[in-house]
Amino acid sequence: MAEFDLVIRGGTVVTGTDIMRCDVGIRAGRIAALADHLDAAETLDADGLLVLPGGVDTHCHLAQPWPEGGRDEESFISGSIASFAGGTTSAICFSSQFKGHPIRDTLTDYQARASSAMMDYSFHQIITDASDAVIHEEIPALIAAGIRSLKVFLTYDPLYLDDRQYLRVLSAARRHGALVTVHCENYEAIKWRSEALLAAGHTAPKYHAWSRPKIVEREATHRAIALAELVDQPIQIFHVSCPEAAEEIARAQARGVKVWAETCPQYFVLSAADMDRPGFEGAKFICSPSPRGPEEQAGLWQHIRRGTLDVVSSDHSGSSYEGNVGKRRAGSDAPFTKIPNGVPGLAARLPIIFSEGVSKGNIDVNHFVRLIATNPAKLFGLYPRKGSIAIGSDADLVLWDPTKKTTITNALMQQAIDYTPYEGLEVTGWPVATLSRGRVVMRDGKVQAEPGSGQFLARGAYDMIRPTGNLPDGFDASQYP
Ligand SMILES: [Zn+2]
Repeated sequence: MAEFDLVIRGGTVVTGTDIMRCDVGIRAGRIAALADHLDAAETLDADGLLVLPGGVDTHCHLAQPWPEGGRDEESFISGSIASFAGGTTSAICFSSQFKGHPIRDTLTDYQARASSAMMDYSFHQIITDASDAVIHEEIPALIAAGIRSLKVFLTYDPLYLDDRQYLRVLSAARRHGALVTVHCENYEAIKWRSEALLAAGHTAPKYHAWSRPKIVEREATHRAIALAELVDQPIQIFHVSCPEAAEEIARAQARGVKVWAETCPQYFVLSAADMDRPGFEGAKFICSPSPRGPEEQAGLWQHIRRGTLDVVSSDHSGSSYEGNVGKRRAGSDAPFTKIPNGVPGLAARLPIIFSEGVSKGNIDVNHFVRLIATNPAKLFGLYPRKGSIAIGSDADLVLWDPTKKTTITNALMQQAIDYTPYEGLEVTGWPVATLSRGRVVMRDGKVQAEPGSGQFLARGAYDMIRPTGNLPDGFDASQYP
């Protein structure tokens, strides 16, 4: 009788807290045993390798429709391939809302597209229009259906919410039990500076950074937190790019506010100088907030070690460099304001953070696992099914060679986007096999999985995002929307 379907043999198992030299027994897609020695008809040799929980990427844009028409080039199929290639097994993507339209207009189509995924997935719901119907009917229905996080933008036309609308979303989230995630940059300030830059003839890609200095991120981060504090609603700050914004978060955390924050690989290895490459090449590096510089990179590592920033997501948001649907959508001499934002990074996330973090001595390997798997799974209600190696957890695993040196190329990223901003970057540490619910979906770079084999991860209520009960004057204004 085969007790296990598969045994991972001889590896070093690493969780967010522990390191164990043991075998991993897998049965029916879940982890059934951790022990000195396990037998099975089928084994996977992990001698000399680390066995890590599969990466959980809680911020990635796949097949997302744009308000101006078109959609992200990365589909749920190509995105799954890139994920598995890079050791990620679950992702949370974004269901859109177009201003003035109900959420259900876009959600049904998006669910149909996502059903082709090979990795497990869930959605954040973007709220661009805090109308009565959205606040009172659609948000409660979404949360009941397991879409338990809402995303708001404090900048970008036509996505941004003003403070009043943001307060309404926070209130709805508090009433129904969801996490709110926030893109923090000051809308008016960026608009004002962009118009001035264009008027001065400063149109090249590098001026993207000039249009949104750190101050606009710091201000919006402070405001996003203050308003969340007013409502007593837990939030996560998306893609923190600089220590100045992280300081605002650390101060709020120190006074007991439930605010968490993520950062992304691009803020550790890219800089504003990349956007100043010759010709149009700088467009490859345009994302928001803007990549900064070496000083900010060092400051972010400090905030990771302090725990201010506890999640690293990819913010995979790819637009190809060649052709006319991606970065050149508005032409090869388009001003920076017309170049689509975002960089691809699904497959690069784990290798870059392991290499820059663990191999270079910034963090230990348990901390790495927490950043890329355990903490995102906990914050978004996927734990302990995802994000750990424990009895009963899904057998989502990565066999990791901690010493393998690799030069990143776009071919290795296995994505639909035709370039990687990390081309030529040398990394130490690389995934050699990925398992999703016990299935070997990647081995030595070869991805094999059936479209549609991914599962939607409906997220129920969980304690971590319960409000604290600390309200100014004890008055719960969220009950009177
Ligand atoms: Zn994003």
